Amino acid sequence: MTDPYKNTLDIAHNHAAKYLQHIEKQDVFPSAFAVDALCVFDQPLADVGASDTDTLDMLHDIGSKATVASMGGRYFGFVVGGAVPAAVGANWIATAWDQSPSSDMNSPVGTKLEAIAGRWLLDLFSLPENCGVGMTTGATMANFTALAAARSRLLQKAGWDVEADGLYGAPEIKVIVSDEVHVTLLKALSMLGFGKKRVTRVATDENGAMRLADLPELDALTLVCTQAGNVNSGAIDPIGEIVKKAAKTKAWVHVDGAFGLWGKVSKTYKSLLEGVEQADSFATDGHKWLNTPYDCGIVMCRDAAALHSAMATTAPYFKTDGMNAPKDMVPEFSRRARGVEVWAALRSFGRQGLEAMIDRCCAHAKTFETGLKDIGFEVMNEVVLNQVVATIGTPEQLSEIRQHVERSGICWFGPTVWKGKNAIRISVSSWRTSHDDVVQSLAAIKAAKMAVIGA
Ligand SMILES: *Cc1c(COP(=O)(O)O)cnc(C)c1O
Repeated sequence: MTDPYKNTLDIAHNHAAKYLQHIEKQDVFPSAFAVDALCVFDQPLADVGASDTDTLDMLHDIGSKATVASMGGRYFGFVVGGAVPAAVGANWIATAWDQSPSSDMNSPVGTKLEAIAGRWLLDLFSLPENCGVGMTTGATMANFTALAAARSRLLQKAGWDVEADGLYGAPEIKVIVSDEVHVTLLKALSMLGFGKKRVTRVATDENGAMRLADLPELDALTLVCTQAGNVNSGAIDPIGEIVKKAAKTKAWVHVDGAFGLWGKVSKTYKSLLEGVEQADSFATDGHKWLNTPYDCGIVMCRDAAALHSAMATTAPYFKTDGMNAPKDMVPEFSRRARGVEVWAALRSFGRQGLEAMIDRCCAHAKTFETGLKDIGFEVMNEVVLNQVVATIGTPEQLSEIRQHVERSGICWFGPTVWKGKNAIRISVSSWRTSHDDVVQSLAAIKAAKMAVIGA
């Protein structure tokens, strides 16, 4: 019998390898022509199936050209990492395995690698090895999962079983966020029944970090949502100090560290995150700064039993497996074995490689800061990590400059509003970004500024 996969996978490999070989030459944001060509996909579902060759050729010929080249070194939009080769390769193998790591009944290898990756992560972030760890689609769901654990434990201590009885009639939890809380953390709060508006907002400083002096009184029914890495400025809340205050009152401190938590792995940047490891729960992303493929978020919880209480399921067809079954530590029952890629990425970096990559991204951000100032931009944030927020001219001119750069195909970064002003945001999160990429990008920005505003 012929192998039903061989030919298809050979074609897929060929296309994917070609795509990645060509990535540095591709426009970083696809041309309008390439995007318009996507209309070729607008076909009714055929009665008769197409050949694999035809399907994969179409994906490559039309689809590849309409990607944003975030796998290259000059994509600085949102907070988007690339994906390191080992993790891409591991992803292919894991896809061939098609494992759901719900428990070791479904996938011994998926469960094992996820557990090992979890242990390595706790070590990297200086967290105790008995923390609960789960892998989710992203930091949105990692925040959701951690906050569900917090909700469970805080209410359980107040004599209420939220998993059984829901929130109606429950003692009220006071939820504290900062004015700069990430939109997805608010979404997580809303999905958990806390309400996006039913929160106490704490003012932030010039760089967008929570003002410690404005933190309200805490008590045993308070949930403080802090942030390590403001999505614009990179600012880190004074979490070490907040944790000290919370410890006296038994309040729960959560850290949304989607990208900023990775500063912990660097000798240069870890002082910014001093004491963060004392918090109760943490959310971070693999697909941002660890450079795993999408999608990958990570939740870590000091009180592993709380995470388990919030997420555990029992069914007669599953053995009861304490905290060892991934399905009992995250919302999803079935899902892809993303721990395989986390394991592969960490293994390929090693401690030194990971630290060097984090430091390199931050150094590139500093180069952007200096270069943008030289071109005449005002850099609006203190560049503490990998994020740069800058502005120049009128909002219309700034928008034109951004579009000019986009059309050049050289690099891409997005718009934002910072402290009420239109700005651009540059995030350096890719393992692949080199000094030369930054130099080329600054040249493109300078040319755009010359064209729009003049010298
Ligand atoms: C990106 C980000 C999120 C959301 O993460 P996803 O992986 O996109 O779900 C949450 N918080 C912060 C601070 C972020 O930067």
